[in-house]
Amino acid sequence: MQHQNKRKSFQKTDKMQFEKLDHIGIAVKDIEKSNELFALLTGKKAYKLEAVESENVMTSFFDGGNMKVELLQATDATSPIAKFIEKRGEGLHHIAFEVENIEEKMKDFEAKGFRLLNKTPKKGADNKLICFLHPKDTNGVLIELCQSIEISEQ
Ligand code: ZN
Repeated sequence: MQHQNKRKSFQKTDKMQFEKLDHIGIAVKDIEKSNELFALLTGKKAYKLEAVESENVMTSFFDGGNMKVELLQATDATSPIAKFIEKRGEGLHHIAFEVENIEEKMKDFEAKGFRLLNKTPKKGADNKLICFLHPKDTNGVLIELCQSIEISEQ
């Protein structure tokens, strides 16, 4: 594919791409059962349950100390989470990095030859704008860029 020839390596002069690891996303079949499991693992109940209509998922969030854990369950068969579980089973689905300006970062990554799964930021869970990088460009790991919506609207 063309994009692979276009890929440019990162330069030492590039500014830092990500602010910090914000959360990891785990695809689950039964979010109620998994909420109980993660309440046991983290010692705390989910602090947020949220349906994300753009992705056809139900999500829950746990405080994992220095980052969050997001559980995702498909709400119908067209959901990317349903397709993921069908192919690979339950498990680690994505890792999400906080960025300050998602549109700028999307342009940066695209200019470096990374494919974006969505061309404009979309509304994700937890009051964020999100964009995914194609996992084939990132060692098979789906990477989410996320920006808190409050920051973008100040
Ligand atoms: Zn996420």
